[in-house]
Amino acid sequence: MAGLIAGVLRERAPGERRVALTPEAVSRLGAAGVEVVVESGAGAAAWFTDADYTAAGARVLGIGELLERSDVVLCVGPPEAEEAAALRSGQTLVGLLDPLRHPERVRQLTERGVTQVSLDLLPRTLSRAQSMDALTSQANVAGYKAVLLAADSYDRYFPMLTTAAGTSKPAAVLILGAGVAGLQAIATARRLGAIVSGFDVRPQAQGEIESLGARYVKLDGVNSAAGEGGYARQLTEEENRTLLAALEEHIAKSDVVITTARVPGRRPPLLVTAAALERMRPGSVVIDMAASELGGNVELSEPDKTTVLDGGVTLIGAGNLPSVMATAASTAYARNIGALLTHLLKDGVLRIDLDDEIQAGVVVAHEGSVVNSSVRGAI
Ligand code: NAD
Repeated sequence: MAGLIAGVLRERAPGERRVALTPEAVSRLGAAGVEVVVESGAGAAAWFTDADYTAAGARVLGIGELLERSDVVLCVGPPEAEEAAALRSGQTLVGLLDPLRHPERVRQLTERGVTQVSLDLLPRTLSRAQSMDALTSQANVAGYKAVLLAADSYDRYFPMLTTAAGTSKPAAVLILGAGVAGLQAIATARRLGAIVSGFDVRPQAQGEIESLGARYVKLDGVNSAAGEGGYARQLTEEENRTLLAALEEHIAKSDVVITTARVPGRRPPLLVTAAALERMRPGSVVIDMAASELGGNVELSEPDKTTVLDGGVTLIGAGNLPSVMATAASTAYARNIGALLTHLLKDGVLRIDLDDEIQAGVVVAHEGSVVNSSVRGAI
């Protein structure tokens, strides 16, 4: 019997440089009995050539033939309308489909009978799912890159340096939100020699921040907002007012602030107000990793936009940071998607089994129905 054929799409979203499988991952899947076909040019923006894929055992095809032959189609972000319209009943699409933000695409694909599997719905606290956790792998890349961006925009040193020309003061870096991206940002800023502080509303973050050699910012009354599934809950208005006032003092004393705070299903909480930005010294840098069309953690920030404010503060609304480091991000993502695909295989065939805890999380739609309850509720 012929084995499963997995097809790798070229990403079409503007600015997206990642690819779902690297040549290394193609070889690994080949050893597991999966035949891989790759759309021509799919890896080019992440520096993987068509020849690299061919050498790893994949066939390189045009989009038409790729969609025709694939049992499973692999992607990073959700496909554009045109590619989605070419998918057919019985095929499976696997990627970071972000179904809650793209209900139209979910509906379109479900009506066509396309099984949809979304890595962003993975149950993250299951240890056997860790190798598939693309949100974590991409947040690690983003947290690291955010610090490099900040250091690049900051016109002083991060470390204390002593030379014949004198001694430089180390930068004071404040990280707001100490989840995966925030902890990686703390570790990276420490490696660059900055004096680092971190804050999060989940109490368990204190130990994690301190274990990286950073100072934990303790604010009375606002450090206990643990929610469900390891995430934070939304603060009450009262808690938020207290938080903003207390944070302002710490922001004013920082040279660099990087914000990473999110609450599932809600707009990101506001942590840095325009008043706090006005109190920062000229030359300071603020990076909002939660910047979005709906607003971010920093008042005035916009995704993919850098502004030098009147007070001399450089405000950077981060865009798609994992895509900026496309090779590292794709390498990690390919391992995640490869691990998930292998998990879905039984005797060389894809078997959807909603009694499996991992599949119950990631399978959005199957056989013409939306099966994930949170997505069904939202659409
Ligand atoms: P996220 O991207 O949803 O949020 C980033 C951080 O912002 C979180 O730490 C959150 O607590 C914080 N935050 C929210 N509101 C805030 C506010 N008002 N002020 C300050 N901080 C605020 O989180 P994430 O990085 O995806 O991680 C979510 C959780 O999942 C974390 O607890 C993480 O450790 C956990 N996790 C566990 C595993 C595992 O067990 N294998 C894997 C990955 C993540």
